[in-house]
Amino acid sequence: MKYKSIKNLLIYGLFPFTAFVACTQPQTNKEDALASHIDTTVNAGDDFFDYANGNWFKSNPIPASEQSNGIWQLIQDTINEQIKDICISSAADESAEKGSNKQKIGDFYFSGMDSVSLNNKGLDDLKPDLGNIDKIKTTKDLFEEAAYIHTVSSSPFFGFYIGQDDKISSKYAINLFQGGLSLPDRSYYLDNDARSKNIREKFTEYITNIFEIMGYEQIKADAAAKKILKMETDLARTSRKREDTRDPFTNYHKMTFAQLESLSPAIGWSTFMNKMGLNNIDSVIVGQPEFFTALNGYLKKYSIDDWKDYLKFQFVDGLSSYLDDKTFMEGFKFYSQTLRGIEEPKPRWKRVVGTTNGSLGELVGQVYVSEYLPKGAKEKLLEIGNAIKAEFANRIKNLDWMSDATKEKALAKLSTIVMKVGYPDKWKDMSTIHIDRTSYVKNVISANKWETENMIVHYGKPVDRNEWHMQPQTYNAYYNPSNNEIVIPGCNIIVPGYERKMADDAILYAIIGGSTFGHEITHGFDDQGSKYDAMGNLKNWWTPEDSAKFHNKTRMIVDQFNNYIVVDSLHINGEATQGENIADLGGIVMGYEAFKKTKQFKDNEMISSLTPSQRFFLGYALAWMVNTRPEALANQVKSDVHSPAKWRVIGPLSNMPEFYKTFGVQEGDKMWRSKNQRVKIW
Ligand SMILES: [Zn+2]
Repeated sequence: MKYKSIKNLLIYGLFPFTAFVACTQPQTNKEDALASHIDTTVNAGDDFFDYANGNWFKSNPIPASEQSNGIWQLIQDTINEQIKDICISSAADESAEKGSNKQKIGDFYFSGMDSVSLNNKGLDDLKPDLGNIDKIKTTKDLFEEAAYIHTVSSSPFFGFYIGQDDKISSKYAINLFQGGLSLPDRSYYLDNDARSKNIREKFTEYITNIFEIMGYEQIKADAAAKKILKMETDLARTSRKREDTRDPFTNYHKMTFAQLESLSPAIGWSTFMNKMGLNNIDSVIVGQPEFFTALNGYLKKYSIDDWKDYLKFQFVDGLSSYLDDKTFMEGFKFYSQTLRGIEEPKPRWKRVVGTTNGSLGELVGQVYVSEYLPKGAKEKLLEIGNAIKAEFANRIKNLDWMSDATKEKALAKLSTIVMKVGYPDKWKDMSTIHIDRTSYVKNVISANKWETENMIVHYGKPVDRNEWHMQPQTYNAYYNPSNNEIVIPGCNIIVPGYERKMADDAILYAIIGGSTFGHEITHGFDDQGSKYDAMGNLKNWWTPEDSAKFHNKTRMIVDQFNNYIVVDSLHINGEATQGENIADLGGIVMGYEAFKKTKQFKDNEMISSLTPSQRFFLGYALAWMVNTRPEALANQVKSDVHSPAKWRVIGPLSNMPEFYKTFGVQEGDKMWRSKNQRVKIW
């Protein structure tokens, strides 16, 4: 994935058109955004990220309601304005037919903007469900409620999803993996530095406050919070580290349902699965069996009443953003302020637009494509995508470290990569979802329920390879190894600063070619993707010698990133981020090679006194023009598989001789590496 992981999508992407209304224009000179962003007080070879973007950062401080400022905010602001128009015009049309897309979008938005009603209700809409948790008497009851919470709110106890079987991509499987935590990573529970200790203290206060809102007296609320921290710390201790969940082979344990029950007999598996709508299960895939054995023990270590509190917290916590202001602010103070350094909430309309889009994205997307996606976007994206794919094939053929046997398989895999670009041919059917104006949180619950049921219904059916897991208005992209496909939503065509004219090929080939298509295609050949074959099955297709050589190269990337200090003494986790870092390096190399074949490059055409190659590398830095608060950087380093933006620029470029040549990088410059320290994989 280019940017964020699923639940917390931000984005990343491409080029520009007259149809886009940019509400927040970058401070550019009217001629050329690239040239105007350069900070000439920085030496390009010391810190190319600050050199290329510094001037923009200086004149665009991070807003109080954001964790960062830069390209993502500019693009998201553009898209938000468009979705807001869709929401407002839908809500204003009171004659919209009941059950129509327009009625659903309009009513959803209206319910979120109705702050008076929201604040009058408090937790009222959740009371029947909280009452059901109160009635729990046995472990069986516990898992019946846990299944319900999985369907509508958060994921207590463990992670669960229906997806393609890693080893049989033509079949859907039930996947179970470690989870049940409220904080973004296990390390938050276990690390003993001052930052982590402070976060745990604030987390306990947050849980206490949520229980008080639920009606607990202070002493009881405080005791419940401390207990939940203890329980989640146990779950964290028995969870694998982020980097240890990367190997798809060691995180794949297929077993029969009977084996699952004997692995963890205290978990009410039948109850859980039946409540989820799953019966007659022959097998399941368990990511980390030892986690489920440990969970089995914790179910006895803590009382049913403790687990009831855990479920109540998980349930309300997962929905706190859609409740009254008091509850919302408790969640904001902890997750946004403490964890990410954000000073104040976004305006209500922005939050509600985000939630409407998150919940009804398939419906919003249909309007977005017909009214806002520039004509020709899909074709331009495909043109660049095909150029990158062709370049990748050339590179594989010419690799000096790979044997012909492995090359043949790599080329076969590359040639079968499916490129889904723009928007889906077929939209998902959301006709069964009920949305009205009476309750915002109930609308969110309906949408979550639809989402879960839509996932469950796949089980036992043939695999639908036409399905998309992102929408055209999502500024992000992904590679799915089971389908050997890349998915590039249409809005990746946007480039801030070039809304009213097409950006030049240098920029397009850097951002769309390198950071988007090149990045996603390389995921098919990173430390994880390379373990899946052309059919999308987890299977080793490498000769042992080539595999060892590949590992040595990726090891160098791991070491390079382990050496980058981001904030305090926190360094990037080179193991956990290696897939993304490999994809970034492959992407920029492919993008540059493809750019060399364009007219702009061949004619050596200067724009704003910049050569084509200078524009290409500056364009690449624009793709990652993001200035981030230190708290958010610390959080990213601890919980994200992507390196922070700055290192996504200086890391890959420090390995590229073409970059050294273009900007005169010399020994002694901070980004300089000796020739034998530069990594070249693809
Ligand atoms: Zn990625």
